[in-house]
Amino acid sequence: MTRTYNFSAGPSTIAESVLKQAQSELLEWSGCGASVMEISHRSKEFVAFAEQTEQRLRSLLKIPNNYQVLFLQGGATTQFAMVPMNLLGGKQSAAYCCTGAWSQKAINEAKLFCDVSIATDSATDQYLDIPEQESWVIDADAAYLHYTDNETIHGVEFDYIPDSKGLPLVSDMSSNMLSRPVDVSRFGVIYAGAQKNMGGAGITVVIVRDDLIGNVIPKTPSMLNYSMHAKQDSMLNTPPTWSWYILGLVLEWIEAQGGIEQLAINNQVKADKLYTTIDESDFYRNLVQPNARSRMNIPFLLTDSALESVFLEQAGKADLDGLKGHRAVGGLRASIYNAMPLAGINHLVDFMNEFERTHG
Ligand code: PMP
Repeated sequence: MTRTYNFSAGPSTIAESVLKQAQSELLEWSGCGASVMEISHRSKEFVAFAEQTEQRLRSLLKIPNNYQVLFLQGGATTQFAMVPMNLLGGKQSAAYCCTGAWSQKAINEAKLFCDVSIATDSATDQYLDIPEQESWVIDADAAYLHYTDNETIHGVEFDYIPDSKGLPLVSDMSSNMLSRPVDVSRFGVIYAGAQKNMGGAGITVVIVRDDLIGNVIPKTPSMLNYSMHAKQDSMLNTPPTWSWYILGLVLEWIEAQGGIEQLAINNQVKADKLYTTIDESDFYRNLVQPNARSRMNIPFLLTDSALESVFLEQAGKADLDGLKGHRAVGGLRASIYNAMPLAGINHLVDFMNEFERTHG
């Protein structure tokens, strides 16, 4: 068996110890005589595990008591619709920052429910920067301000929490959740799909402040209603128990790494190493403004784009996978989430240096 270094944007690499634990427990879990996949979500074992997972998340992120933590389905994409459905509360508009492909998708979905007022838009800069907050125009009548903390495709990440001028702040943290500490009390809603930093696909974490739930738009289906999920402890229907289980194991692994504070340090070291390699060469380029560069998704170009396919082929032979850029922007991209070890970055950097030496 050869496990490669997997730089995929998501689903993405999971710590080997997590996979091994899941493997060892696959047939029989927690003394149940059956796999975790085979038992009722309402069994006392699973309910206890679910509660423990919520507590782990609460303690890792220091989530205040006046927030609900929901474990939902439908991916972050479903949150693009659930956020306006649950938060509009009779208002006609919502404010959005447009800093890349994922904010654009959130905006398009919100337009199904309300007027969208754009607080800032970096499309004219090809999403290579995050415009200064002083230049933003935030609609004071909007129900909330939404932004994407890390743009997975464009490799742009906020290095601060925006000032929402009193509006509830909503953040899509799908691709940088749990990669650094965050002051949850500054937010109305934080949401993230699990398949990058929290395990496998199929489960989405939503952290929502109590006062923002219970005021959905008319005819909102139960499955899209935060309040209904909160009342039923995220077991309104059969939840994705396997994904929930893997998420729990990943949180346990994060604790063993020293928590989010330590992961933030590791992530900075990894990202710095890769950006330095790119910046010190004339062969590779990353065009994102330095203060807006993502620590999680690092897109890069070769000066000679014709060499991209050769790069990918040789990288594959060197056990480096998932480096193809997103189809919307092309080029190359290394996604280096929590579970990518420094050894993987070192291996990639060595490969890049050698590729430059032989093809530069
Ligand atoms: N937001 C961001 C920032 C993402 O990276 C993604 C997925 N790559 C999504 C939303 C959509 O997530 P999902 O596929 O879970 O719906």
